[in-house]
Amino acid sequence: MQLRTDLPAIAGGQPAFERPVPIVVPEGLVAPDFANEMLDIFRSGQLTNGARVRRFEDVAAEYLSVPYCVAVSSCTSGLLLVLRALGLRGEVILPSFTFHATAHSVIWNGLKPVFADCDLETFCLDAESARTRSSKETAAIIGAHLFGSPAPVAELERLAADLNVPLIFDAAHAFGSRAHQRPIGNFGTAEVFSFTPTKLVVAGEGGLIATHNAELARTLRLARNYGDEGTYDPEIMGLNARMSEFHAALAYGGLRNLEERIERRNQICQRYRSNLSCVPGIQFQCNRAGTRSACKDFSILVDETEFGESRNWLCRALTAENIGTRRYFHPPVHRQKLYRAIWDERPLPNTDRISERIINLPLYSTLGDEEVDRIAGAIVRAQAFANKSAFHLYPSAVTENRKTIGMAGG
Ligand SMILES: *Cc1c(COP(=O)(O)O)cnc(C)c1O
Repeated sequence: MQLRTDLPAIAGGQPAFERPVPIVVPEGLVAPDFANEMLDIFRSGQLTNGARVRRFEDVAAEYLSVPYCVAVSSCTSGLLLVLRALGLRGEVILPSFTFHATAHSVIWNGLKPVFADCDLETFCLDAESARTRSSKETAAIIGAHLFGSPAPVAELERLAADLNVPLIFDAAHAFGSRAHQRPIGNFGTAEVFSFTPTKLVVAGEGGLIATHNAELARTLRLARNYGDEGTYDPEIMGLNARMSEFHAALAYGGLRNLEERIERRNQICQRYRSNLSCVPGIQFQCNRAGTRSACKDFSILVDETEFGESRNWLCRALTAENIGTRRYFHPPVHRQKLYRAIWDERPLPNTDRISERIINLPLYSTLGDEEVDRIAGAIVRAQAFANKSAFHLYPSAVTENRKTIGMAGG
C-alpha cells in the first residue's frame, strides 16, 4: 500500500523515519586508546581515586578556569556533599523545574526545600521569585543551568550576597556553557557537573565539583572518602563518593572534541529554531544575552490552543514518525509524589506552564542537517494536520482518521 506523505504518521501517513531516531546518543566515547587505558589501570593496581582522577581534575580545572575541581561519583553525590560540607541548617531555595536529584540532595541533608518559580524565557530559576521565597530560615540557594542554558548567575549571586548564604549550582547540563565570558563552574560557592550518558561529557557515571574556595575543596576531598583523611577518625560525615580510575579515563576522553561538539549542537538548535519559527503554537527556550549554552537538550513548548492539538498529542504524533521525544521535566518536582506533601503550596505558575508544554527533541552532535529538517518537517506536518483551519487541504482523511483514532479531543 502506498502511504500518503502529506499526512502525519499518526493519521496513517508515511512515518518520517523508517527506523527510530533516538532522543540522545552518548557522545565523546570514541577513544582509540581506551582499551589500553583500561589495561594500564588493571596493571597499575590503583583502581579508584588515583592518577587518572587527578589528571581529569587538572584538565577540567584548566578547561573551566577554576582553581579547584573535585571529581565525585555523581552529580547527586556532589550536591549532597557540598550541602553537607557547608554545614547548613534550615531552608534551601531551589527551582521545581529541574531534575529531582537537585531536590533529593536537600532532603538527604535534612534541609527543607523551598521551591521558587522559573523564568518563562530561560526556564531557569528566577532570581526575583527566589527572593520572594527567602526568609530568615534560608540557608542556601541552588540554581540550575537547564538544558545548558545558564541561569541568571549575576542576579542569583546578588541575592545570595544580600541574604548572606551560599549559592550552589546544579551544573549537570552545563559543562561547556558560559556566562559573562566565563565558563560555568565559576559562579556561586560551588557548581556541580554530571557525566552520565545523557550529558555532554560522558564517564558512564561521574560528577565534578568546581569551586574557588580552597577550604571547601579540601573538605570535599575528605567528604568523598567517608570524611576520612586516613586516620580512621573521620573529620566529616562523608560518603564513598569517589570516582574510579575507569570512569576518570572515560571522563578524560569525553573532553575530546568538546568544543566542536558544542558548536555543532548550537548549529542544530539554530536549525531547529529557524525551521520551526513559523509554526503556530511552538516556542523555544531563550539563552540570556551574553551566554553560550552547551545545548545539552533542545526543547519546544507547545501551546495547545495555537498549535491545534495538545503537547501529549504531538508526542504521540512524533512517536508515530519514529522520532524520539521526552517530556523533561514533567511533572515538575513540587508535583512529584515524594514532594507534594513537602511543597508549601505557594504557586509556581511558570513552572507548571513550562512543564505542561515541554517536549525535548533529538539532539546530539552526530545528528545531520537532513535529519533535523525531517524532524522539524514532521512537526510542521503535524501542526498543519492539527490546525482546524487547514482541514480543507485533506478534509476526507481528517474526518476519517479522527474517527478511527479517536483524536477529537486530543
Ligand atoms: C543528570 C542530572 C543530575 C544527576 O546527575 P547524576 O550524575 O546522575 O547524579 C542532577 N541534576 C540534573 C539537572 C541532571 O540533569
